[in-house]
Amino acid sequence: MTLGDATATTSTTTDARRAALEAIAAEVRVCRNCRLAETRTRAVPGEGHPDTEVMFVGEGPGQTEDHQGKPFVGRAGDLLVKLLATLGWRRQEVFITNVVKCRPPGNRDPEPDEIAACAPYLRRQLEVLDPAVVVTLGRFSMAHFRPGERITQIHGTHAPAPEATGARDALAYALFHPAAALRSTEVERQTYDDVAGLPRVLTLARERRAATLAATLPAAVQADVERADDAPTLF
Ligand code: URA
Ligand code: SF4
Repeated sequence: MTLGDATATTSTTTDARRAALEAIAAEVRVCRNCRLAETRTRAVPGEGHPDTEVMFVGEGPGQTEDHQGKPFVGRAGDLLVKLLATLGWRRQEVFITNVVKCRPPGNRDPEPDEIAACAPYLRRQLEVLDPAVVVTLGRFSMAHFRPGERITQIHGTHAPAPEATGARDALAYALFHPAAALRSTEVERQTYDDVAGLPRVLTLARERRAATLAATLPAAVQADVERADDAPTLF
């Protein structure tokens, strides 16, 4: 399955989305809205394709990410790329970011007030990208998109992402954090299994969004939509 936004032309253009994402990134790079600004080397806004249907959200930058200013470029990132490759997907075709954009010192967990301070950037990225699927990587990302759940119970499952996150009509799919998979062969095996379920969730999310869109159209246009083939692929 390839990744392309079937509804791209109905919302906004690729260039407009790229510019909007770059404007958010520029704010993140100079942000000092929480204490993580004091210890970071570089903020890590996130990166990826402005037309993508799939967004990956991790926890926060690690040491390599902090040095390079890019998300998931260390060992966890290498595993993420391998996981994507099992689906024939490449990292440039998705969007990858984190709940907090600056590295918590010593890779400690992000604090609730840091997550809250950084949340507006993630919300704006979601509003711009309007992804069909948000893949949460680890507990902190899951807590944002699947509140009240436990990762050990819901990994490999999807549920609608709350609209308050900025996702207009997305399914949130929970994965273990790749760093956890690097520490445990059992978690790694489970993560490969969970990733294999992702294309089906994307298809489901496309169908939900097509139904939402169709419901807002006049009857004559609805008939056309029902006749249309599967979503066109752009990549
Ligand atoms: N771990 C994360 O959660 N995010 C990154 O960007 C890298 C490692
Ligand atoms: Fe700003 Fe987020 Fe970095 Fe805190 S973690 S300084 S809120 S960009």
